[in-house]
Amino acid sequence: MKKLLLIITLMMGIFITGCVDDEPYIPSNPDDGEDDPIVVPDPDPTHLFTETDNYVVYINLDGFARYYYDFAVEKGKTQTLRSLKSEGVLFNNLNTLFPSITNPVQAMIISGASSSQTHNVYRYYDKSTNKVVQQARENAAETLYDVVVEKKIPVVSVRHFPGESVLSKTDLNKLYVTEKTGVVADAIARFDQAIKIVKGGQITSGSTNITVANVPRFLTIYCDDLDALGHNQSAYNYGTASSEQARIENVINALEIIDGKIKELIDAYKERGIYEKTTFFLTTDHGMTPFGAETLLGGLTSKYSRSKWPALRDKLKAIDSSFVFEYVPQNSSPSSKTTVVGVSAGLQMQLTFKKSLTEKELQAIKEELLKEEYIGYVFTRNEVIRKGYWRGANVDLMIVPSERYHFHGQSNPSGMYAVRGQHDTYHETSREIYGIIWGYRVKKLGDYDEETMVTSFGVAMAEALGFNLKHANAPRLDIFIPKEN
Ligand SMILES: [Zn+2]
Repeated sequence: MKKLLLIITLMMGIFITGCVDDEPYIPSNPDDGEDDPIVVPDPDPTHLFTETDNYVVYINLDGFARYYYDFAVEKGKTQTLRSLKSEGVLFNNLNTLFPSITNPVQAMIISGASSSQTHNVYRYYDKSTNKVVQQARENAAETLYDVVVEKKIPVVSVRHFPGESVLSKTDLNKLYVTEKTGVVADAIARFDQAIKIVKGGQITSGSTNITVANVPRFLTIYCDDLDALGHNQSAYNYGTASSEQARIENVINALEIIDGKIKELIDAYKERGIYEKTTFFLTTDHGMTPFGAETLLGGLTSKYSRSKWPALRDKLKAIDSSFVFEYVPQNSSPSSKTTVVGVSAGLQMQLTFKKSLTEKELQAIKEELLKEEYIGYVFTRNEVIRKGYWRGANVDLMIVPSERYHFHGQSNPSGMYAVRGQHDTYHETSREIYGIIWGYRVKKLGDYDEETMVTSFGVAMAEALGFNLKHANAPRLDIFIPKEN
């Protein structure tokens, strides 16, 4: 039995999402004449805040699926977040965008735009180099950080990494703060840094002592505890769960700690006398989809434990015998016999057909694929482009697994997976995310049920800071109270 457990444990460690160094962005040729979604950003400059004595706080809690919040509320937890609904807008139908992966979505939010503008989708097959490209923090669009630095609006970020390259470790007007050297960089450490900054006390960032005398007009905080616990791979000082129930409980417990820290942060703004002038934005990049067997020992018998990519390969072959599928890992090229390139981070599978197929042909394949139990959604090239997906990613079909099925195990499809979470999927557990905006000039709408894209949060933050983002294509949120003249 011990040996079996060891094997299962080893297998569960197989897939680790890693970041790779930045790679140059290779532009693609628009080839199919399909229209990108046209969203005209609000041209009315009267919506922009004109004051220079207001404050904006952006908290991003990586991997904060909406269902976590609903579970927490059911258990009577997250008292702070629950109470904040009456001070602003709780988005009950907030969605992330393809590809629902950290770096691309974090970039999209701070640019107020989909990947058609940011040109980062994490991983894609590049036809011109015949290679699967792995992206890191690339963003072709203007960001909130670019603009506040350019306009000299004082900004401090505690570990919101997309700002790191334009901020400084020592410049008080554009400061990037980390935890003190040697301290575990969990949410407690990060919020404590932010709280000290708001109170005007001294902090130690890395090994540098810094005192920020004035509260920055733009403060951002990024924490990835919920994401780490949701993936159920050990991180920080947290353990891993052996059942789905335990996985969710771990997340809810961390959320409860963060909820207390949000209260402390709010209290610091109140003590400083500027809470009434501060607009708060709290959201995330994606949710988290449980996949694989529901329990560790269930791995041997569960229909969800093994990868479905061999089944997808066989299905494609059955649809058309000329379809030779190959699941190609990052930084690799498909073999010359391959006609269908598969690219995945473990859940949804992007297909690129080497021979161009028409939309009608893609629709026919889609219809066939949807007959498979393990496939939940299929989107064609035109459909993903209309959802804002970057056409340079060359996606012909996006295959989204249903239920707890997955496409992990690129090199070892017989590996077993259990009690894991991943979020590169259109599945509602990843797509439906938490988001709330409250405070200065925010209408007290409470529950807000209209479908909203998380990229609209970036547009709204820019509006509260008094500018438009150049490449934004997300709709403006009508949530601010016009200023009395
Ligand atoms: Zn993330």
